[in-house]
Amino acid sequence: MTAQSSGNATATMGNPTPLLAVSDLQIKYGSITALRGLSIHVGGGEIVAVVGPNGAGKSSLLCAIAGVVPSAKGAITFLGKPLIGLSPEDILRRGIAMVPEGRHIFGSMTVDENLRLGATVRTDRGAIAKDIEELLETFPILRERRKQPAGRLSGGEQQQLAIARALLCKPRLLMLDEPSLGLAPIVIDQVYQILTMLRQRGMTILLIEQNATRALNTADRTYVLSAGSLRLSGTKTELLNNRDFDAAYFGVAEAETRVLP
Ligand code: ATP
Repeated sequence: MTAQSSGNATATMGNPTPLLAVSDLQIKYGSITALRGLSIHVGGGEIVAVVGPNGAGKSSLLCAIAGVVPSAKGAITFLGKPLIGLSPEDILRRGIAMVPEGRHIFGSMTVDENLRLGATVRTDRGAIAKDIEELLETFPILRERRKQPAGRLSGGEQQQLAIARALLCKPRLLMLDEPSLGLAPIVIDQVYQILTMLRQRGMTILLIEQNATRALNTADRTYVLSAGSLRLSGTKTELLNNRDFDAAYFGVAEAETRVLP
């Protein structure tokens, strides 16, 4: 299996217009090249993961989709329309919300106030209170903590708040940057259960992870990036059965000693 053969599986099997398509994306920060012509796609209703070691270019990919890397070159289309050149606010209005690395919760504001920030781009103000109530059904711990400063929440609770806040934008695509970062394994399980539940409700999810095992176990398809280039892609079974997977993800030296999960 190669990046080319498996990475385009859904595009070639009767799903010609993916929700999100990234083509030949190139990102440079001065003399540093973060992405060297990356092409990926995300179909409606999929969970797609992008994994790779430090510096692979994962965050740069999400930031370019979210419109916060003005130097990005190539093409990004969402629902068939180009995104490059649009402002982050416009991209949010088109239906792409991001849960950033580190969550970026406002610690001195209450949980309720943080949630309402997620709805600032919406024009249907009358529906926001009802949507918050529905989200509090999905995230009961946030209802318990509703009036508390968000800074008092645990890491896992803050991750739930960051996800709920992004959902209040009513996105078509939810992007998450390293949702497991800094969380205990049992809390990571809860976060990934939430992502699976959201997918069952129809949400499309693009997530990036250094924790390849978590990503492979949850995603429908996973792309493996290394040093700004796509190395492999496929389902969990395809990738774990691919003898190049360890070398692509860990580098050859470590791959020789690693035992697969
Ligand atoms: P990590 O998990 O460590 O964040 P990553 O896979 O998300 O890694 P990026 O953060 O996208 O990778 O970084 C890709 C490359 O671009 C790295 O060499 C990084 O040092 C560089 N880079 C990222 N952001 C900037 C920036 N704002 N200015 C300069 N170089 C940057």
